[in-house]
Amino acid sequence: MRIAVDIDSTLHHYWGQLADVAQRRFGVALPYDDQHTWDIDALTPAQLAECVAETHGPELVAAAQPYPGAVEVIAGWRARGHTIHVASHRAPTAQAHTAQWLEAIGLPFDELRCDYGKVDWAQAAGIGLLVDDSPANLLSARDAGIVPATLRHPWNAALCAREGIACAQDWPGLGDTLAALLGEWRADGGADHRAGES
Ligand SMILES: [Mg+2]
Repeated sequence: MRIAVDIDSTLHHYWGQLADVAQRRFGVALPYDDQHTWDIDALTPAQLAECVAETHGPELVAAAQPYPGAVEVIAGWRARGHTIHVASHRAPTAQAHTAQWLEAIGLPFDELRCDYGKVDWAQAAGIGLLVDDSPANLLSARDAGIVPATLRHPWNAALCAREGIACAQDWPGLGDTLAALLGEWRADGGADHRAGES
């Protein structure tokens, strides 16, 4: 299966970076636990764009720490023969340093796409599973016939529960949740393993 994986709030705790930049630049607090919608009303669109641009610059991209288990689960999927397309809504100018980050954290991938229009691209590319935290992307993917899945965040928890979208608290949990679709993964990222096989 072709699997598309988002980066921000999917591979790493992006919210901490965004909140730090918003506080420093504009003195605006963005508490993670209070972010129950996708909208950020405390910043103007221009301020938010400025903050996002900084978080996608070389310094903060390089500083991002992957969520525990993310690399291992995805490596396990790839070891089973699935294709990994990392797809982030960020400017194409972020492509080179984003690729360097993926290599630095040891995440194996087949394609990196830093661009916009993710779900339209995913549908055209034959993506079967999209792992992404954005409520709009999750719903659009499902409408396009793509299985949506996500880590649970304050901004998507209620929607995932209501819509029955695959959702887990962490990456090992996501690996377990998607095992029926993708096969078992192993913590060592090694060869595949099915229940009942020795
Ligand atoms: Mg995201």
